[in-house]
Amino acid sequence: MLEGIVASPGVALARALVIAPREFVIERKTITAEKVEWEQQRFLQAVEKSKRALEEISEHTRLKIGEKEAAIFEAHLLLLSDPELINKTKEEISGSLVNAEYAFDHVSAGFVALFDAMEDEYMRERALDIRDITKRVLGNLLGEQPLDLSLLREETVIVAHDLTPSEFATIDKERLVGIITEIGGKTSHTAIMANSLEIAAVVGINNATDRIKSGDFLVLNALGDILGDASANRQKGKKQGEVQGEVHINPDQDKINYFKKLKKQYSSQLKQLDCLKGLSSQTIDGHKVHIVANIASLDEVKSVLNYDGEGVGLFRTEFLYMGRSNWPSEEEMFNLYRTVLQAMNVKTAESIGQRTVIIRTLDIGGDKELPYLKIDKELNPFLGLRAVRLCLQRPEIFKPQLRALLRASVYGQLKIMFPMISSLKEFLDVRQIYDSVKGDLEREGLPYDKKVPLGIMIEIPSAALISDVLAKHVDFFSIGTNDLIQYTCAVDRLNQNIHDLYDPYHPAVLRLIQMVIRNGHQEGIEVGMCGSLAGKPELIPLLLGLGLDEFSMSPSQMLRARQIIRSINYSDSVKIAERVMEMCSSMSSSEDIGAYLRNLNFMEP
Ligand code: PEP
Ligand code: MG
Repeated sequence: MLEGIVASPGVALARALVIAPREFVIERKTITAEKVEWEQQRFLQAVEKSKRALEEISEHTRLKIGEKEAAIFEAHLLLLSDPELINKTKEEISGSLVNAEYAFDHVSAGFVALFDAMEDEYMRERALDIRDITKRVLGNLLGEQPLDLSLLREETVIVAHDLTPSEFATIDKERLVGIITEIGGKTSHTAIMANSLEIAAVVGINNATDRIKSGDFLVLNALGDILGDASANRQKGKKQGEVQGEVHINPDQDKINYFKKLKKQYSSQLKQLDCLKGLSSQTIDGHKVHIVANIASLDEVKSVLNYDGEGVGLFRTEFLYMGRSNWPSEEEMFNLYRTVLQAMNVKTAESIGQRTVIIRTLDIGGDKELPYLKIDKELNPFLGLRAVRLCLQRPEIFKPQLRALLRASVYGQLKIMFPMISSLKEFLDVRQIYDSVKGDLEREGLPYDKKVPLGIMIEIPSAALISDVLAKHVDFFSIGTNDLIQYTCAVDRLNQNIHDLYDPYHPAVLRLIQMVIRNGHQEGIEVGMCGSLAGKPELIPLLLGLGLDEFSMSPSQMLRARQIIRSINYSDSVKIAERVMEMCSSMSSSEDIGAYLRNLNFMEP
């Protein structure tokens, strides 16, 4: 079995078509001065031919896929019209007296290197666009036909080192059921298009083109732990925000049957759930809650809207700080937050425009290290300098984020949330810095929303135990069960050896959850949950009955949660909660509690 990162969810069972990396052999040929103009013309004609092809692909994509995806090819067209690229190539031909292929390959390699070296992931991925147009122009110069996969003979999983957007666009989508690539990230354009077409895709599988042969029968499971949050993957030691996908090569019939069933279940679940779009998350007897999303990047907003999310309950901002060598600037953060807020403020066919976005401030530390954050190695990083603890010690890191958040606040419905609060003093210290940042913006005359609600995560037992006090000072709570379980049960959430002790049904955990909701409501504030328990079908009736107001989970879990909410009476969920809390006080084990909740059968669609 091969493993990679899910770039687009789904299950595919089909034969593989392996696309060998197409590397052109570019020879350096010296030309005479008389030939310069001829070579330059040859180059310009190849560019023109490439542009015509791109215009066709762009139009085809606009009709078959959508405006946004077509824009990728518009961007390629712009790149191909870039005078710098064109003129530099012409100069290279005349200055170095070399053939057009060599000159263009050389100039474009310079541009690729430039983009590759950029810190911003988005900009780095633009290097792929240049590679893509380079292949196209070189193909034309060398008289090679571009890869033609416009008519696939049967349902196919394409396996490639990398699949460029233009290669992807020309593939027969009727029969393309899966994509496996060796490189590429979740933000690559191919991943974006695969997502919008709901084609299963797993990226980052090393040497996939060597390990898989054309004609192999593949099972591609790109569902990951679709019933769990990304943090579930983190528990398996995977990078947070990445869902794990798997590929089985020529599996036995039993496995094939198993995955066929899974695929069927998945698609019938999706179909059934589709009709819930536009409906409210309300119980049979009229009790309303909010079903919102956990995201970690701008890309995921599309998914939130697609699954009719009512807002974002947790935007984990730390991912912008990762995979780079220095701190993001205030401007970079401001642009990201503003774009997310604006994107969440649109009307969709299903629902209203204004959706609240809870952005959580930096939660670095624990398992989320930053190479450029120079702090001493800690013996217990999860109990160490993490999240607001770090931000309070290093206001020079914290303030730019708060400034960026406040400046972005005028673009949508923002709420700010602070992670890892363990005492009232900590929150008051955070608020002091926050107020000073507000004062700075005021003096600078920069606009911001003066009434941004401030909330805290309740993910440390000490905070849960004083939640009655904290509730008097904050505007909302969000329970972070991923950490609350680890700190309550003293079980490292990453340690596989004690994984069975990481117990969501532990009476202590359930009591704390009940206490936090009660204390929040006592002071009239909303209580949400953004830890992965909020998206677990068997726990939803219990949490509902305990009075949880907002359930925040992976976008693909949201409609399922809405379905459960809509199929139950609130009064019954209250009884379920009472029963479970009684079990917590009796001799019942957490296994009993788990079994009781599963037997209620809210998990089956
Ligand atoms: C949590 O602890 O439940 C949570 C949502 O935060 P994270 O998983 O990012 O620590
Ligand atoms: Mg946490």
